Amino acid sequence: MKIGILSSDPSLYSTRRLVEAGQQRGHEVRVVSTLHCSMNINAVQSSVHLDGQAVDLDAIIPRIAASSTFYGCALVRQFEMMGVYSLNSSIAIARSRDKLRALQLLSRKGIGMPITGFANKPDNIADLIDMVGGVPLVIKLLEGTQGIGVVLAETRKAAESVIEAFFGMKANILIQEYIRESNGSDLRCFVVGNKVVAAMLRQGKEGDFRSNLHRGGSATVAKLTAAERKCAVMAAKAMGLKVAGVDIVRSNRGPLVLEVNSSPGLEGIEKATGVSVADMIIDKIEQDLLLRKNAGKIVA
Ligand code: ADP
Repeated sequence: MKIGILSSDPSLYSTRRLVEAGQQRGHEVRVVSTLHCSMNINAVQSSVHLDGQAVDLDAIIPRIAASSTFYGCALVRQFEMMGVYSLNSSIAIARSRDKLRALQLLSRKGIGMPITGFANKPDNIADLIDMVGGVPLVIKLLEGTQGIGVVLAETRKAAESVIEAFFGMKANILIQEYIRESNGSDLRCFVVGNKVVAAMLRQGKEGDFRSNLHRGGSATVAKLTAAERKCAVMAAKAMGLKVAGVDIVRSNRGPLVLEVNSSPGLEGIEKATGVSVADMIIDKIEQDLLLRKNAGKIVA
């Protein structure tokens, strides 16, 4: 099978591991630089070109950076139009990339999440704060990643001034109930298909409520409850993602989803758990393509 990994950097751990796992299982694997591809869109035979040549693949693994979501999703869509299997679909990636849309979709499925408020204007900040249960609360930049743009406001005064400042900058923000009992930790659940294949508990560094590894957090293997597993699988399903990194906080009222990532990193999770997640991803592609071949149609 010819597998393409859509990635901006072949030297990234996740990209290297996927290449390695694919090759070990006898596949032809190449890294396709997302932003260097061009698309020929026409009614007869659409194509993707790289380095002046048409790219010929059976399957793609999209690893789309947050900064190239628009072009990345368009490229995944182009492959889909050409009948190439994509591990995560363009529509599912787009859903999960928009934090607000993702939370709305999760809420429709009744999946637990911290109470979240959203507004367009600073008309009634007091009501917005009350809506999420008052302070302390978390303010999040809609476009933020890796914990950047996530602020904890401990007092009403601090919350009001930070919210006002963000509105003044015309930034889109979410206001969220602060889950104090999570104690600066969260669970990263790696979902492949209908299963959580690996999970780690991330703990923020001393004094930081954010547990992101990029912010200095540390990770250990996590033992999930049945409810946490179910919650992670349901969250990935709600987005339509076959592979997802679901971030969950443990609260007094059970697991609450913070975010669903469509290109979750492999380094932290493989190192913390010892599970070859890359291998499981390739295995999932093999299964889906076999199903597709047998059914003679596209696996949605
Ligand atoms: P990002 O996408 O930038 O990582 P997150 O929403 O995942 O943003 O927040 C970063 C970290 O901050 C989380 O991993 C978690 O540890 C902490 N955090 C975020 N939201 C809350 C919340 N509502 N209550 C408690 N901790 C939170």
